[in-house]
Amino acid sequence: MRCGQTEGEVRLEKCSVCHRRFCFRCAVRRAGKAFCSLACADLFFFGEEEESE
Ligand SMILES: [Zn+2]
Ligand SMILES: [Zn+2]
Repeated sequence: MRCGQTEGEVRLEKCSVCHRRFCFRCAVRRAGKAFCSLACADLFFFGEEEESE
């Protein structure tokens, strides 16, 4: 987990792009959906397949 929080401390969501879990607190929200990062949010909406990490 990017911010170091563990399950139980925060609510976890699953990214619909990369399927990694991320905590609700760190989520990037776009159009009512939550993503683990800005890169995934962009991928979801623009569909580019660039590797970002
Ligand atoms: Zn993601
Ligand atoms: Zn977090």
